[in-house]
Amino acid sequence: MPTAQEVRTLTHFIDGKMVEGTSGRYGSVYNPTTGEVIAQVPLATAEETREAIAKAQAAFPQWRDVSVAKRAEVVLKFRNLLTENIDKLIELICTESGKTIEDAKGEITRGIESVDLAIGAPHLVKGEYSVNVGGGINAYSAKYPLGVVAAISPFNFPIMVPLAQTSMAVAVGNAVILKASEKVPMTALFVSELWKKAGLPDGIWTVVNGDKDAVNELLENPAVQAISFVGSTPVAQYIYETAAKYGKRVTALGGGKNNMVVMPDADLEQVADAFIGAAYGAASQRCMALSTIMPVGEETAERLVEILKRKIDGLKVGAYTEPDTNFGPVISQQSKDTVLAAIQRGEKEGAVVVCDGRELEIVKESNGFFVGPTLFDHVKPGTEIYEQEVFGPVRNVVRVNSLEEAIQLINEHELGNGVTIFTNDGAAARKFTTEIEVGMVGVNVPIPIPVGYHNFAGFKGSRFGEGHMFGPDQARFFTKTKTISERWAAPVTNTSTFAFPSNS
Ligand code: NAD
Repeated sequence: MPTAQEVRTLTHFIDGKMVEGTSGRYGSVYNPTTGEVIAQVPLATAEETREAIAKAQAAFPQWRDVSVAKRAEVVLKFRNLLTENIDKLIELICTESGKTIEDAKGEITRGIESVDLAIGAPHLVKGEYSVNVGGGINAYSAKYPLGVVAAISPFNFPIMVPLAQTSMAVAVGNAVILKASEKVPMTALFVSELWKKAGLPDGIWTVVNGDKDAVNELLENPAVQAISFVGSTPVAQYIYETAAKYGKRVTALGGGKNNMVVMPDADLEQVADAFIGAAYGAASQRCMALSTIMPVGEETAERLVEILKRKIDGLKVGAYTEPDTNFGPVISQQSKDTVLAAIQRGEKEGAVVVCDGRELEIVKESNGFFVGPTLFDHVKPGTEIYEQEVFGPVRNVVRVNSLEEAIQLINEHELGNGVTIFTNDGAAARKFTTEIEVGMVGVNVPIPIPVGYHNFAGFKGSRFGEGHMFGPDQARFFTKTKTISERWAAPVTNTSTFAFPSNS
């Protein structure tokens, strides 16, 4: 484990080089498992960000003009380097995020799915062609890269989300600037080295580290054509509104408050296992984590809560270095304080504490940012513990009387990222998938996060803008379509035509 004396000063990655920050402002990067500061990350000024954008803009035409097949070759080399360096990536992710080794491996694997899709960019940017649309005229639509595009990432997936936001953008010919989370910048800097080794030209991949000063420059700078954002809902809304005001294409994904509906016919032992993994994995710091379980009917609720309590009491919270750890710490002391305050608030609001994560020894005695698994029962809609995303291991039981009531409650909630139903009843499942107003829906699948070749995005306050992460929509989002009408035959007539062009 690094000691306080070994605190590293990190850099940006601009024009193919690690570049020291000049702002004089730094953020502390923690090892959440020990609570130690392990690095200082430079926080870029608007001016530094502007210079990085200018370098990317200068590099763009050369990359745009590389054939799409050659670009795909570079992405393939990058993909191979990710797998060759998986141990190093796991170490970085675990150190700066506190995730377990298995969880870090899972995130890398899912991130690589986006790279795999990007290797197929030549197929995804094929255009459309029509012959003889008018006298001797053929028409075609072709996809062109946008230019400089930016991705702004959250802390909770140091590699998966940045790969999902950027791999296709690179493959289709853009110059990409990543504003990584200032809480987990080391993984992004290492990924920069891999792009360089893969043969990506200097200036096409940039990492600007920073906070809102860097972000605001990306939003306002006229050279930046598109913004891909993933993070919390209030910031997503701000990013969407500001980027749109500056005329940019923007997709901004926000937070989640995801439900699992449990029908009386479901196998409750299986349900409990599925819920606990999806609810508490990664210390619940996933936008697709299950926040709330909704058993249908009092009898289902009574039995389920008893099983959940037994299983949750057996969970192991600890360091990623220890075997059998189920989940580790939250990202920061501030986050731990916020989560503990949410537990206190939930109690005051009248929810019943079934499992109390404050009571674990590791929570009271470790310098790491640990919070134990907490479960509230009898949680009521309208309370803060029900309405607001808690980015830590505090989960709710909301008892409902019918499937209709569950659907109505979920549809009335401000967020709509993920949801799932556990049942053996096909009609109930079909009603649920048809009527539910949520972007990603599971049936007997606890975390319905789509595979990399399907589109990913929530509804309502979980997504601002129309684009998706992952999936073929990325090729559309990061390109613009030009429609060209061509005639190379001899002119049919030498006279001017003043009527509007028609296909007769
Ligand atoms: P965050 O919103 O605090 O930060 C995300 C990014 O925005 C960071 O790079 C940060 O530097 C920047 N940022 C923060 N405040 C800003 C401001 N005022 N102005 C400009 N930029 C700002 O989110 P986080 O805490 O890093 O990540 C957790 C959140 O992300 C959770 O709400 C989680 O649900 C959400 N998330 C959503 C998805 C999804 O796909 N919908 C995926 C992962 C995480």
